[in-house]
This record gives sequence, structure tokens and C-alpha cells, in this order.
Amino acid sequence: MLNERNVRLGQVRSAIRELFEYGKKRKAEIGEENVYDFSLGNPSVPAPEEVKRALIDIIENSDPVALHGYTSAQGDYGVRDSIAKGLNARYSLSLDADCLYMTCGAAASVCISLNALINNGDEVITFAPFFPEYRVFAENAGGKLVALPCGEDFKPNVSALKGALNGRTKAVIINSPNNPSGVVYGEGVLREIANTLNEYCAASGGEIYLISDEPYRELTYAGESPSAMSFYARTLMCYSYSKSLSLPGERIGYIAVNPAMENREKVYAAVCGAGRALGYVCAPSLFQKLVARVGDMTADFSVYERNRDMLYEGLKNLGFEVIKPEGAFYLFVKSPEPSAEKFALRAREQEILIVPSDSFGVERYARISYCVSTQTIERSMPAFARLAESYKLR
Ligand code: PLP
Repeated sequence: MLNERNVRLGQVRSAIRELFEYGKKRKAEIGEENVYDFSLGNPSVPAPEEVKRALIDIIENSDPVALHGYTSAQGDYGVRDSIAKGLNARYSLSLDADCLYMTCGAAASVCISLNALINNGDEVITFAPFFPEYRVFAENAGGKLVALPCGEDFKPNVSALKGALNGRTKAVIINSPNNPSGVVYGEGVLREIANTLNEYCAASGGEIYLISDEPYRELTYAGESPSAMSFYARTLMCYSYSKSLSLPGERIGYIAVNPAMENREKVYAAVCGAGRALGYVCAPSLFQKLVARVGDMTADFSVYERNRDMLYEGLKNLGFEVIKPEGAFYLFVKSPEPSAEKFALRAREQEILIVPSDSFGVERYARISYCVSTQTIERSMPAFARLAESYKLR
């Protein structure tokens, strides 16, 4: 008998992937320009020119055997050292190379972190709405995902967190800027989470870790997104260059273990062990070298900001209830009817592809990924107007 859980995971696509596949089919039927595909968070702006130049330079001027060879399992020492120094300068931390583990993107970073921390039956808390793969990753590591509701503003509800902590809680996963709400957790929220965890651990003698999933950290529209590591010692920072440098297909990211935690060496060993057990070792060598050179740059995010403004204003004027995104490239729109599923299907009748919120752990919303061309947003507006009209919103 096979592992039936994995058979099911392989057979049933996520709601997002399902919609993306539908979009591909529909575009072939009626033409790409007639489908408003807001399904996937696939960056639509190219990587900066410096990425190409650095890649050419690395390829032309490195020993090809070493360049394409294995690095250390946890990543090249020089690469980890340079990332650590960059983070220290930016967030006043004291990381060194042996706090860093190079990964194939944020998905691997979160998986490794969960496997490093969880024993069978441990609970992992997150706040809804959340990236749906957290449940898959946590359960695969032997844990149980507990999703707590957010407030109306989609910021974490800290009193719910207080109530949910118990002897089985091993970790809390946060994601800011948030996929799917676009909300950024400011310093105040992060401090409150840190205080709550510190108070609980001090009173109970427990050890609760914060997994801070930050692939959208650079993508904010009003000031920087703070990093949770600045506020809580037991933090594992999960990062990727998928969105910041528009390199999602190259699979490169890292985990940073906060050296401020008392058992830092043991936690780092657990990260290395989990990476080994999962076979997630030696992240792509060429791209490790690349991010050591240009990892502090970002792609040009101005298109996303333009799209956000156009979509937010456009939908509001049509009578939709929308949350103004402060970061990432997702907009959460409230469904005019109780069922988000039915709303997304009605949007599909207008060739608008949006993801119902149920898979993100909340009801009655849909996610619009606006990492598309601005023309797509412009051309979709009459379709959104027909959708609004069908609900008599104005
Ligand atoms: N975490 C969140 C919140 C995401 O939105 C994504 C991808 O969209 C990931 C993790 C996975 O990122 P990566 O492609 O770098 O593995």
C-alpha cells in the first residue's frame, strides 16, 4: 500500500493551481487577452538587468567544475557569510554564516524549519488567512496546524494567540506582508506576538519558536516591513528571492536562525538535520553565488504599485469591499454573497479568475493576484463592472 496521504496530495491540486490550469485551458480556447487571470503569485516584472550581468560574469569567470559542483550541504560559506552581514546591517542583528541555511525557496525554508522543530503531535499556530501549503507542510512534519482568526483588519488577534498556546504548541508561523490579504504586520503587532510568547514561555517553561515567512519582505508600498527576528529571540526567518528578484523558477532562498536564542547551535543543527533528512541540501550553486552578489537588490516593483492603486480604486468605485494592500501583490475582496466559492464562479463567467478564500482559512473573500500587466488590470475593469452589476452593488 502506498502512502495514501501523499497519493491524495498528488491527485488533488490546490485551489490556486486548479484555477491556474483552468486559466491555461481557457486562454487556449478564447485567446489569452480575453481571460483575466489573477490566479497565481508569479511575478510579472523581469529580474533586474544586474541579475543577467552577474550571472554572465559568474559563469565566465568561475572555475566551471567548482561552480556547478556541490556546495556544503547548508550552502557555500562565503555566500552565507555575505547574507548574514547584509541582514546584520539592515536589522541590527548578529548573525554569522553558521546561522544561515541556503534553501530552494521559501517553501523549502518553511518545510525544513517545521521538520527541525516538530515532534509528532506538536501544534503549529498560524493566523488566518494563511498560505494554504502551511497545513500540508506542518502535517507532513507530524504536526497539527491550528489556524486562529484575525481581526477585521486581518492583523493577528493576539488575545486569540494567548488563548491558544498550550503544552503542545511548538511554533507559530507568521507571514508578513501577507499572502493573501496584502496586510503588513507592523512593529506593534510583532512586539505583541513576541511579548505573548515570551510571557507564556516564562510562565510555563515552554519553548515556542516563531517561523517568520518573509518572501514578500521587500515588497511594500508604505515604508519597510519589519522583520520578526528583531523582536523575538526564538525566530527562524524564512526567506526567498522568488518575489524580490523575480526569480521564482530558480528556487533560491534561506533560513536564518536567530543567534539570540539560547540553544542556537542545537536549533541550527536541527535545521541542518531536517535539510539532510528531507534531501534539501546544496541549494543551486549558481544562484547561491548570484544572491551573494545582487541579493540586496529588487526587481522594479512600480508596476505592482500601479496595479494595486488601479485595482483598489476601481473595485471600490464599483461598490466592492476591498482591503487596501500594504504589501505583496495580492488584494482581498469581500464576496457580496456568503459563499466565496460561488462568487469566484460568478467572476469566472466574466472570465475573471480569482481564488476563493476558503483555502486560505477564511470565509467570504477572494484573492486577486495583481502581479500581471497593467493592461490586464485595465482590460478587466469592464468585466469587474459586469460582475458588480450582477450583484446590484451600485
Ligand atoms: N510562503 C508564502 C507566503 C508564499 O506566498 C510563497 C509563494 O507564493 C511561498 C512561501 C513559497 O515561495 P517560494 O516560491 O520561494 O518557495
